[in-house]
Amino acid sequence: MLHVSIVWHVEPGLRFEPNLIVDDENISCLFDLIKATPEIRHTLMIQADDSVLSATGKRAYLFERFSSELRELTADGHEIGWHFHPIEIHEGRWQQSLDQLRICAAAEQAFNDINFAFPIAVCSTGWCYGSNELTATYRRLGLRVDCSALPGLFNPGVDVADRYGNIGRVNHHDWRQSPLRPFKPGYENYQLESPAQDGSLVQFPALTTRDNLVSLNESVHWYSPAYCGVKRALTEGRDVYLQLYSHSFNMRRPDQRMHFYRHIKLLNTLAAETGSALNFGTVSSVISAWSRTTNCIDLLSYVEQEALWVKLGKRIMHKAGFI
Ligand SMILES: [Zn+2]
Repeated sequence: MLHVSIVWHVEPGLRFEPNLIVDDENISCLFDLIKATPEIRHTLMIQADDSVLSATGKRAYLFERFSSELRELTADGHEIGWHFHPIEIHEGRWQQSLDQLRICAAAEQAFNDINFAFPIAVCSTGWCYGSNELTATYRRLGLRVDCSALPGLFNPGVDVADRYGNIGRVNHHDWRQSPLRPFKPGYENYQLESPAQDGSLVQFPALTTRDNLVSLNESVHWYSPAYCGVKRALTEGRDVYLQLYSHSFNMRRPDQRMHFYRHIKLLNTLAAETGSALNFGTVSSVISAWSRTTNCIDLLSYVEQEALWVKLGKRIMHKAGFI
């Protein structure tokens, strides 16, 4: 069976300016897309952190602003989760915080602000960040699933300038050791499966290739060896659990909406071709199914993916008009 969770990072707007811009319109676009895809139970990770506090005066701004819409979505079987950016102001500029004490305190404050309104069981961290300390904090807060991991990928962080020329460093993450499937993270190393497979928190990684995220708003990854890995696992009769994510603001653009629909069509085709049932479930429901199975393996290894790129890549990319 092919289980797919479609996850949205729902963000209020630009965080890279000293005066943050609140953009509610992009979120309305996402609500429209959800209405247009009744076969999918979506998971919305709503941003709540110190940058939202700075922009709006409330960490829980989005939860309050859209409370009736979010309630309707949960009544329809969709899931509401939490998106947390570990962010701080450094020399007048927003940047990613790497101070573990500060990150964990900020996470705890934000969670306490939102959890009263909606019971939150799932989350994802901004810039796909992970650490032992943050994983322990999520566990202590009672979260069940963290969707931050990008297996195989590492980014030392990139400098981003705002329009005033102030520089901030963002997008640091390290998931080089993580498996390409759900796992219970270890207490000693957040990237690896706990040897005892204990703990209440599950890490549900996004689908990645050797050097990239399979992004719902891009077309090139359609032909990704990662999807070839999905096909092979399904052909072998295994259960596959995929997390695919994008951002609410991407769905303002018609070309990116088109790529989203092409991914959904491709997943339907993969299921049909392999005779597999297809479940577009929330993160909680898919991980609940995963916890009852013993039939899940890593998708293609990165070495196998590399070989597939060499074998298929040029021909397929050429056919698709990318090279
Ligand atoms: Zn984000």
